[in-house]
Amino acid sequence: LLALVACALLAGPPAGDAGGDAERLRELAGRLFEAVEREGQAWERLAHLTDRIGPRLSGSPGAEAAVRWTAERLAADGLAVRTEPILVPTWVRGLESAELLAPVAQRLAVTALGGSDPTPEAGIAAEVVEVASFEELAALPEGRVAGRIVLFNRAIADAGFQGYSAVAPLRTRGAVEAAKRGAVAALVRSLGTLSARLPHTGAMSYGAALPRIPAAAIAAEDAELIHRLLAAGDVVRLRLVLGCRTLPDAPSANVVADLPGRERPEEIVLIGAHLDSWDLGTGAIDDGAGVAMVMEALRLLKASGLAPRRTIRGVLFMNEENGLRGGRGYAEAHAAELPRHVAAVEADSGAGALQGIAVTVGEGGLARLRALAPLLRPAGAEPVTSPGGGADIGPLREQGVPVIGMRQDAARYFDWHHTAADTLDKVDRAELARNSAAMAVLAWALAEMEPALPRPGPAPPGERQR
Ligand SMILES: [Zn+2]
Repeated sequence: LLALVACALLAGPPAGDAGGDAERLRELAGRLFEAVEREGQAWERLAHLTDRIGPRLSGSPGAEAAVRWTAERLAADGLAVRTEPILVPTWVRGLESAELLAPVAQRLAVTALGGSDPTPEAGIAAEVVEVASFEELAALPEGRVAGRIVLFNRAIADAGFQGYSAVAPLRTRGAVEAAKRGAVAALVRSLGTLSARLPHTGAMSYGAALPRIPAAAIAAEDAELIHRLLAAGDVVRLRLVLGCRTLPDAPSANVVADLPGRERPEEIVLIGAHLDSWDLGTGAIDDGAGVAMVMEALRLLKASGLAPRRTIRGVLFMNEENGLRGGRGYAEAHAAELPRHVAAVEADSGAGALQGIAVTVGEGGLARLRALAPLLRPAGAEPVTSPGGGADIGPLREQGVPVIGMRQDAARYFDWHHTAADTLDKVDRAELARNSAAMAVLAWALAEMEPALPRPGPAPPGERQR
C-alpha cells in the first residue's frame, strides 16, 4: 500500500506548481490515513513501551531501556538514529503512607510529589491547616501555620489543560509557600478530575533559602474529608511518612531520528514527544502515546519511499516530567542549527481524538496552518488555536522556532494523568492510529511548505505552552 503512495505522488505535476502541490498533499494525507488503519504499528509499539518496559522515570532502569529500545526500533525502520547524552535528576519514591490521627483514625491515600525530600522515618505528625490558594495562606495570622501541615485544597474547575494549569502552581510551588510560613509539610489536593481516590503525583520544587519540607498529593476524597472535619470545628491531625530521596544526577539521553531532506537537508522540521514518565503508572497517555505517534509518523513516511524537501527529525525527549533537561539539552546542543529549525511539533496530550493544533507562529502563519488543518482530520470546531507549543519545545520557541502542539481531546486526560492508572487500556487504538497519521501529514506538509512558516517574535510573559 505504501508503495502506491510513492507512485501516486511521483506521478503528480512538477514541484513548484502550487495547485499540484496541494493536490499531492491531499493525496498523501488520504493514503497515510488509510495505511495507518490497515497496517499501523503505533499500538504495538505503545504496548511494548508500557507493558514490557513499564514506568520510565528519569534515571530509572525503565527510562534507559526505553532509550535503547526506541533507538533500535527507529534504526530498524531505516531512520538515521543517534542518542544524545544528557544528565538527568534521579529521584526514587520509596514507601509512603499517611493516616489521620484525630479526630478519627483513618488511612489516607497519598503519594509523594516528585523531587520531595523524605520525612523522618517515623513520619511527621502535626495539625492540618487548610487553604485554597496562596493568597489565603498569606492572609492567615502569624503562628497559624508554623509547625503545621498545610493542605492546599482546591478542585480543578474544568476538565482539560486550562483547568489543570490554573491549579498546577499549588503543586509545583506549594512547599515553597508553606515553608515561608514555617509549615513542616505540604499536602496538595490531587490535580485530577476523576473521583476514584487516586493520588496524582507531579513535579514540585524548593526555594533556595527555605527549609525543604516534604510534599505529597492527597486524593480528592481525602482532602474533602479533612475539609468537612475542619468545617465542623475539629482539630485535624495526621501523620505523613515519605521514604523518597534524591540520588546523584545520572547519564541518560534524548533519542534523535532523522529522515533526511532531499533538497534542503540542513533545514529541519522537528516532531517530538517525551520518553520519560512518572513512576506510578506506565505512562501510556503521558506520554507513551506521543512517543508512539512520533515513531509511527517516521515509519510511515520512511516506508512511503518519499524523501521530504527538508529533514524531518523525530526527537524523543528525556526528563520532561521532572526537570526538562532533555528539552533544554536539545536546544543547547543544537543552538547553531536552531535558525534552520523551521518548525517544532510536540504531542503530549494523550491519544484522544485530535481536536486540532495549538500554535505559536509569526504574522500570517496562522492562516496558512488553517488552510492545512483539514488534512489532519481534526474533530474540533476550532482546529487551529494560538498560542500553543509544548514543554520540551519551549526552549526552541524562545529561540524563534515556530512551535505546534497536537491538541487531543483532553476531557478525560486528567482523570488518570500522573497516577497509577495511566496504563495502556486508557488509549483507544483507532484514535492513536489517526493521531499518528495526522502527525505524519503535518510533518510532511511543514517539510514541503514554501516559504517556511514565519517565525514568532519574543515570547510575551506568561505565554501558555501546551
Ligand atoms: Zn507529558
